[in-house]
Amino acid sequence: MVTCSHLTRNYAARPGSVAGIVDVSLEIPAGEFAVLQGPSGCGKSTLLLTIGGMLRPESGTVSVGGTDLYSLSASQRAEFRASRLGFVFQLFHLVPYLTVRENILAGMSTTQARSLASSVDSLIHDLGLSDRRNAHPGTLSAGERQRVALARALARKPALILADEPTGNLDPANAQLVFQHLDRFRRQGGAVLVVTHGNDAAPFATRTFRLESGRLVQNPSLLPA
Ligand code: ADP
Ligand code: MG
Repeated sequence: MVTCSHLTRNYAARPGSVAGIVDVSLEIPAGEFAVLQGPSGCGKSTLLLTIGGMLRPESGTVSVGGTDLYSLSASQRAEFRASRLGFVFQLFHLVPYLTVRENILAGMSTTQARSLASSVDSLIHDLGLSDRRNAHPGTLSAGERQRVALARALARKPALILADEPTGNLDPANAQLVFQHLDRFRRQGGAVLVVTHGNDAAPFATRTFRLESGRLVQNPSLLPA
């Protein structure tokens, strides 16, 4: 589903210093739940942004479902992102003045929102948000906010969901719930890449990666069962 070849993105001004990612190649087929780990500052968010089409690498390619992301124009890439990729962030990134349902539909065209209306309603139900559908994010718990963000990502029926420390602000029960929904998505043929600190995603991982100083290394501590 997603293939990265020799991705390098260096922010460093000083020659020889490394801040970013270096020569990263990886593959996440459809139906896989990949977990990316590594110490703070090792380049995890940089890699996710690059795979998500939001940060052009200095060299290397990202291919999602056969489409070479950075050979697209900026507007084609934005459209590809909106229709094929889902994003979930640690700080949720919800729009405060929109309701739960409006947040989930935000950014869709009227036609798209209309065609997805009934599946969005069942998603709201599946994620336990029926009672909160007209609430604003400021009145929700952290767990509810992340479920809204998850619904927003899933509603577009993406091929790949990228999640950057999605459970960083959640209690263990809500964290498990988020992983369970991502697990269901990948069982239905989606691909998932989750950046996470702890081992809480381990039971769901079908493959794991570890970054150190921008480079992909073996991850012996967290292997698929
Ligand atoms: P992680 O998500 O693993 O904590 P990041 O990908 O955010 O790591 O950052 C990797 C490295 O790149 C860090 O040293 C960070 O300071 C640096 N970095 C990240 N974003 C920028 C930027 N926009 N400009 C300069 N340096 C950056
Ligand atoms: Mg990060």
